[in-house]
Amino acid sequence: MKAVVFDGKKLAGRIKSHLRGKMNRLKLKPLIVSVSAGASRASDAYISRQERSCREVGIEYRKIQFPASADERTIIKKIEELNSDRKVTGIIVLLPLPSGISALEVHRRIRAEKDIEGVNPDNTGLLARGKAIMPPCTAAAVMAILKSAKCRPGGKNAVIVGCSDIVGKPLAMMLLAENATVTVCNIKTGNLASHTKKADILIAAAGAKNLIKASMIKSGATVIDVGFNVAKHGICGDVDFKGAVKKASFITPVPGGVGPVTAYQLLTNAVRAAELQKI
Ligand code: NAD
Repeated sequence: MKAVVFDGKKLAGRIKSHLRGKMNRLKLKPLIVSVSAGASRASDAYISRQERSCREVGIEYRKIQFPASADERTIIKKIEELNSDRKVTGIIVLLPLPSGISALEVHRRIRAEKDIEGVNPDNTGLLARGKAIMPPCTAAAVMAILKSAKCRPGGKNAVIVGCSDIVGKPLAMMLLAENATVTVCNIKTGNLASHTKKADILIAAAGAKNLIKASMIKSGATVIDVGFNVAKHGICGDVDFKGAVKKASFITPVPGGVGPVTAYQLLTNAVRAAELQKI
């Protein structure tokens, strides 16, 4: 078997043109503000990518960068200012925050309608009840990819490798809402292959290069690789792509798979935030 290889840029392009249409119906341009503390090359690169994709659809983007010495009170005060600023549509807090600052405390202060990353506990709670107003971007991107592949999760075995708050856990909720039978694995899971081999839908989100070998994949499975690892020869995912492409029926590559769709999911949430705030 040779899998269909997903093209993330193509789906991202379709989302982009859909967003442009929605933007035309808004009275004001949405404004995203990112808040970070301490410099990091990874988050600088992430901010530049976000700025670029915002520009492409006409969303404004502003960044507020605090020094690494900033404390929790300062960050929370800024979040509260942004919550009450009517010009601000969406708020992003870049992680990691300096030690001593609780990401949970900061996230819980973001007004739910401005929480375009879906990280406020109000939003994660609503997600668990199947009523998400702002789904976390990567998990929503995976669901959009499954939809574009016409893969209906209902009645299927979905196995997620990785159970972080931003990817694995919300994805489990979203797949349950679609009546999949969901297994979530983590670093302590024994005999990982015994779980992955049962997956009709296999989602790798562990951040471990080549963790999923072809021998661990059920023939004909839909394989979504969320992993993003820096290797000697460049960027790679959690799945051994060369082997897996011969076993799966559908697979996402890294780079060029989940990543580009996630970027536009953030903008989708920003436009949704603008609609909720009636701007
Ligand atoms: P994380 O480090 O917060 O969580 C990793 C999870 O994987 C944990 O639950 C851990 O128990 C599990 N895990 C790690 N090694 C494992 C192993 N050997 N076997 C089974 N489980 C294992 O990571 P995260 O923030 O959820 O990100 C996961 C990966 O997804 C990373 O590579 C990250 O860069 C990538 N990512 C990609 C996108 C995107 O848009 N493409 C977005 C977010 C994260």
